[in-house]
Amino acid sequence: MDRFARLLMGYEQFRGSLSEDDRSLFQELATGQSPSTLYITCSDSRIDPSLFTKAKPGELFVVRNAGNIVPCCDNATSKADLGTIQFAVEVLKVEHVVVCGHSNCGAVIAMSNPESVRSFPYLEEWIKLSKDGLDLNPNDSVCVNVRKNVLHQVGRLKKLDFVKSRIEDGTLRLHAWVFSIEDASIETYSVDTEQWVSLINLNEKGEEPTPARRQQAN
Ligand SMILES: [Zn+2]
Repeated sequence: MDRFARLLMGYEQFRGSLSEDDRSLFQELATGQSPSTLYITCSDSRIDPSLFTKAKPGELFVVRNAGNIVPCCDNATSKADLGTIQFAVEVLKVEHVVVCGHSNCGAVIAMSNPESVRSFPYLEEWIKLSKDGLDLNPNDSVCVNVRKNVLHQVGRLKKLDFVKSRIEDGTLRLHAWVFSIEDASIETYSVDTEQWVSLINLNEKGEEPTPARRQQAN
């Protein structure tokens, strides 16, 4: 079957399988939204935050771009994402912001080797803006650079006045995550230990998750 036809069939199945609870949820959401979390992640097709957090519609406000970038304040060409972030923080009053990178991120690979996108002017410009102030070593592993990039973007968030004030009054928490595609696991940055740690700890049998470790990256 054609791959796009598969998507259309998926929609048909979705419509056919809506439960009463689903319909009630969508009716409720039709009048407004109150998501708890702004989720900033890469546009990569392999990343599906609603899948791995089991979030329902209305729970995640998502900003996606190549490389999960938080644009610089003084960057006139990136106001779209900044405006979206501001809407989530100041209007929707989200309580958490997650910046989630991922393994084998093509945007981060390009950031560490800008020559590779020289023939794609828009992409080249985006990569240039994205890595502004970020020192990536092309000899480091992609994993290392992905983590550096996530922390850099969290750092940019903290510099936004409307984010800073919410952090200072204790109503907003920032989280730095990296999703590993290979095993569908997430690591989060612990400011206490300055290390990346598993988002959840499984017991010895790997069965019962303990409550998620809610690490603050601020
Ligand atoms: Zn990516």
